[in-house]
Amino acid sequence: MVAGDLAYCAAILGKVSMAGGWCTWCGWSPKEWSPTDHDKGQLWTLEAMAEVRASIALGVTVDTSANRQGCVDEPLRTCVPINSYIIPILHTEIGIGNRLLKSFLDWVDLRIENVPDDKIEARYGVYEVRSEVRLHNEIWDDWVNLKGGQLADLREERAMINYTKTLRDDDNKFVHSAAERKDMMEASKARTAAVKPLEKEKKEIVAQLETYKKVLAARTKALSKLTSWRLTHQERSGEALGNLGDRSSSLPWR
Ligand SMILES: [Zn+2]
Repeated sequence: MVAGDLAYCAAILGKVSMAGGWCTWCGWSPKEWSPTDHDKGQLWTLEAMAEVRASIALGVTVDTSANRQGCVDEPLRTCVPINSYIIPILHTEIGIGNRLLKSFLDWVDLRIENVPDDKIEARYGVYEVRSEVRLHNEIWDDWVNLKGGQLADLREERAMINYTKTLRDDDNKFVHSAAERKDMMEASKARTAAVKPLEKEKKEIVAQLETYKKVLAARTKALSKLTSWRLTHQERSGEALGNLGDRSSSLPWR
């Protein structure tokens, strides 16, 4: 038996990134399975999926999305039949729970807190860029773990080679022969060639991360301005109480 979320099932069945579209268990498209009263589709088999791929590869069938039915790749696992794939109920419940929570929070913003549109947008903007910062922080950490040591080693080797190359004795003559120094220069150049792409990668990753951090700082500041402006404005004009009255009368249970 295979248990995993839809994205996982799709990935190991060779239907990479098709989780939001084609059904895992039958050949149906979203248009076919979306209606709540839809009939049962015909159960997929690994053999049938292989036939679809082979037929398209041989040019017997035209390569269209409808003909492929999501079968874009070789499956990663062929020892478990598709009727033994299950998804954990918890995952579906989290999805439903998230939707309920979001619609409840939207309702609170709109009906209880009276949050103006610009503030909702500003909040979403902060949330959005915060996710980007988190993501790029992870990319940066991964890079440091994977290639950071390599870059440091290469630089150290190069420094060592360059130092050795220029060593002179007491008579101020080079310790190493011209041929040796030429080899060292080549070795140093090779290190530089290896260092350059790593430095470029590093610079790009850091630049992206810094950009997102700056945007986050700016958006956070703009959001807090929006919040404080609103409070001051209300207090000054003495609308706070009046607004409260308006709000309670707009609550659905009054
Ligand atoms: Zn289905």
